[in-house]
This record gives sequence, structure tokens and C-alpha cells, in this order.
Amino acid sequence: MHDVVIIGAGPAGISAALWCDELGLDTLVLEQQEEIGGQLLSVYNPIENYPGLRAHDGRELLERFSEPVSKADFDLWTNVEIESVNLRAKRISLRSGEELQSISIIIATGVRRRQLGIPGEKEFVGHGIIESATRDRELFAGKDVCVIGGGDAAAENALLLAEVCPTITIVHRGKSLKARREFVERLQTSHCITVFTESVVTRMLGNEGLEAVEILRKDALKPFQMAVRGVLVRAGFEPNTELFREELQLDEKGYISVTGQQVTSVANVFAVGDVSNPLAPTISGATGAGATAAKVIASRLIRK
Ligand SMILES: Cc1cc2nc3c(=O)[nH]c(=O)nc-3n(C[C@H](O)[C@H](O)[C@H](O)COP(=O)(O)OP(=O)(O)OC[C@H]3O[C@@H](n4cnc5c(N)ncnc54)[C@H](O)[C@@H]3O)c2cc1C
Repeated sequence: MHDVVIIGAGPAGISAALWCDELGLDTLVLEQQEEIGGQLLSVYNPIENYPGLRAHDGRELLERFSEPVSKADFDLWTNVEIESVNLRAKRISLRSGEELQSISIIIATGVRRRQLGIPGEKEFVGHGIIESATRDRELFAGKDVCVIGGGDAAAENALLLAEVCPTITIVHRGKSLKARREFVERLQTSHCITVFTESVVTRMLGNEGLEAVEILRKDALKPFQMAVRGVLVRAGFEPNTELFREELQLDEKGYISVTGQQVTSVANVFAVGDVSNPLAPTISGATGAGATAAKVIASRLIRK
């Protein structure tokens, strides 16, 4: 029996675990990936807005987070596959057959990039899918590329690619771009960026590598093909809440509803970080929420 089981070891889960440890709680952290860090592992831009620390990228910040983790006294299991969770009973079943029991559960499962679910999207990972303009820019220099999405992330990546690629086509399903005005103005004055609104990419095509995308424009009868060597998808995020849907109160987009103390709709179950913060997902928000949940759990256990 653990005092706390934390599901997810991104910034929110790491912070919750460090606080639980400091407060003397018997804590187990379960992480599905081989490595801890969550989204930090895919941040290739400098992190300049985490108070007191500047990092060249997410991995550098993770190294700073890992220092206290290596000295702390909580259990951390990586590569863990959770089969099911009974939140009311605080029982977690692992794919390996193990059953875990705890007094409290902290859900820190974060979010994942929304996939388009179209043919070619998985096949061309590593052969045409651009993970990040910051990281992959030189690989795609001199090549025509397509950016899917219409928000800040799509616009920012398109502007970075425009520094090295001859043409960039932005394909956005909405009527107008949702990116901030400064980005939209820069897109409009760029000579190599074309924007297709009310349009969707329906297929990615190629052999060894990506060679073209198929685009369907609103009111068109048939899609058309456009030759590109790279595609970057920024279609938003979705919360990792599949395991908890039956028992927890979620908002209309599937994010976990919490109070100011990170309390969910089930007693002694807390949710922290991006998985319960659709409006303002940040590293500082995630670590703060992790600390709050740990302190609330500790104060309740002491009172008992
Ligand atoms: C490209 C990019 C740039 C960013 N730049 C900044 C920035 O400059 N400043 C800033 O403040 N924020 C930035 N962010 C946002 C920031 O990274 C997130 O707000 C933060 O990582 C959220 O932490 P989290 O722990 O809530 O979730 P996550 O980082 O998503 O971590 C969740 C963890 O839970 C694990 N998990 C999920 N499901 C399960 C399961 N079933 N079982 C076990 N483990 C599970 C995941 O594998 C993951 O390790 C950026 C994000 C991205 C993608």
C-alpha cells in the first residue's frame, strides 16, 4: 500500500513526486516511456519563462529536474503499461499482471499532439514528417514543404522553415488563421508562404520518402496533389485521459475538471499539469500544480 501513486513523469509528475518525498509520503511514480520528462523531450526551443532557470532546450531543463530526482527517495518505474485503473478503489492494474494499491492517486498524464489519422502520416515518420522546424530545418533546407494547422505553433514553424525552404504551403481547415496577429502579418508579407484556408490534407504520398500531399479544398469536387518533401503537423493537443473517462468528470474536450487544489470529482484523486489545464499549459503551471496536490495530500494524511 503506497500513500500516493503518481501516473506520469513529466514536469507535473516530477514536481509532485519531489514534494511528496519531501513531505514524507510513500510515493510510487509510473511512467509509460523509457525516459521521464514528458513534453520536455520534444521542446527544441530555448526555455526562457521558467522562473530562475534558462535552458537551451527541454532536455537541458530536464537535466536540472533530474538532479533532485536522483537524490530523492521515491520509487520510479518507467516503461510501465497500465491496463486499467479503479479510481474509487485506488487500485491500478498493470499489463505485467501486477496490482497496485494506494491511498491517493495523482494523475499527471499530460497531453499528446493531435494526429490527423490520414494515410501516410505514420509511414513517413522519419521519411518526410518534420517533428520540429527548430530541430529539422537544415534537413529540409532547399525543399518544398507543407505545414498543417492554423495556430501559433503552425505559423511559428512555417516562418522558421521559410528561412531555408523555397516554398511553404500552410493548409488550415478553418476560415482564417488563429495565430497571433504578429505571426499572421509576417506570413502575409512572406514571398514563399501560401495559405490554403478551409482546406484539409487527406493523404500523404510517396515511396521511400514523402513525395506529395493530397489537398481537398472546401467546395472542390476532387482533391489535388501537391509535390512536397516535408510535412509538419500542428493540429493541436489532446489530453491523455482514456484510462479515466468512465469515472472522472471531464470537460467537453476530455480534460480533467479540478478545483483550485487540484481535486477531481473522485475523493483522494488529484489531477495536475496539462491534463487538467487546457487554457494555460506551462511548465511552471505544471510544477506548481504538482506541489499543490502533494501538499494537500500530506495535510489530509496528517489530519487523519
Ligand atoms: C514544442 C513545445 C514547446 C514548449 N515550450 C514551452 C516553454 O517554452 N515554456 C513553458 O512553460 N512550456 C512550454 N511547453 C509546454 C510544457 O512542455 C508543458 O506545459 C509541460 O510539459 C506539461 O507537463 P505535464 O507533466 O503536465 O505533462 P507532459 O509533459 O505531457 O508529461 C506527461 C507524462 O505522462 C506520461 N503518461 C501519459 N499517459 C500515461 C500512462 N497511461 N501511464 C504512464 N505515464 C503516462 C507521458 O509519457 C509523459 O511523460 C512546450 C511544449 C511543447 C510541445
